Amino acid sequence: MKVGVLSDIHANLPALEAVLGDLGSVDALWVCGDTVGYGPDPSEVLALLNERHATLVAGNHDRAVATGEGLELFNEAAATAVTLHRSWLTVAERDALAALPRTLETSDVTLCHGSLRDPLWEYVTSARAAAASLALAKTSHCCAGHTHVPALYRADGTRTGQIGYGEPYSVGERSFFNPGSVGQPRDGDPRAAYAVFDPAAGTVIFQRVGYPIEATQRRMHVRRLPTMLVERLAFGL
Ligand code: ZN
Repeated sequence: MKVGVLSDIHANLPALEAVLGDLGSVDALWVCGDTVGYGPDPSEVLALLNERHATLVAGNHDRAVATGEGLELFNEAAATAVTLHRSWLTVAERDALAALPRTLETSDVTLCHGSLRDPLWEYVTSARAAAASLALAKTSHCCAGHTHVPALYRADGTRTGQIGYGEPYSVGERSFFNPGSVGQPRDGDPRAAYAVFDPAAGTVIFQRVGYPIEATQRRMHVRRLPTMLVERLAFGL
C-alpha cells in the first residue's frame, strides 16, 4: 500500500499539482491540515483534493477560515489571508472545512495537524513532545504537520536529525512523523515537501519537488494577499 502524505498546502495550487504529479498513483492520500490560509487558490485546492478522494483533518487555518475560530491568535498577515479566504469561499466550501475532524485514525496511524495534546496549535519539534502525543495515540503511529518542516521521531529514541530525501526510513514500532509543507516550506528549501508512507513495509520516504513559485506569487499579487506572504515562498521561510 502506498499512501501520499501531505500537509500545509495553504491554497498553493501549483505546488499541489507538482506534488501530485511527482507522487503518481497512490492507494490513499492523507492531508494533515492547513489546506487553506496564506495562498491564492483555496477553492481550487479543495476541489482537486476532493477529486482525488483525499482524507483531510482540520488545521488552525482551516478552522479560522471555516468558522473564525482562533482568528485572534494569528499574526496580521495570516489574519488578512484568513479574512480574504472567508470572503472567497462559498458557504458549502466553508461548511465542508468546518466539518473536518481534528484527529482521525486510519491504517494504524492517527492524523492530526499539530499534536494529539493540542490538535490545532502545538508545534512538535522535539522527541519529548512527539512521545507525549504517541502516549495519547491508540494507533502505533502519529502523523502531523503545522511546523512546515519534515521530521521523524521514533519512540525507541533513534531520532532522525537532518531528513534525507528519496530514501526509505523505517518507522519502527512507534513513530511520529511530519511530511513538511506542500505550499509554504519553512526549512530554507523552497521546494514543495511531502512523504510516502508504506504501512506494510513500515517505511516513510520524504520527498521534495520544485514547482513554479512565480506562478503562485503572481496569483497572490492579483488576489491582493500581503507582500510578506508572497516573498517568503522564494526563500522557503
Ligand atoms: Zn500551516
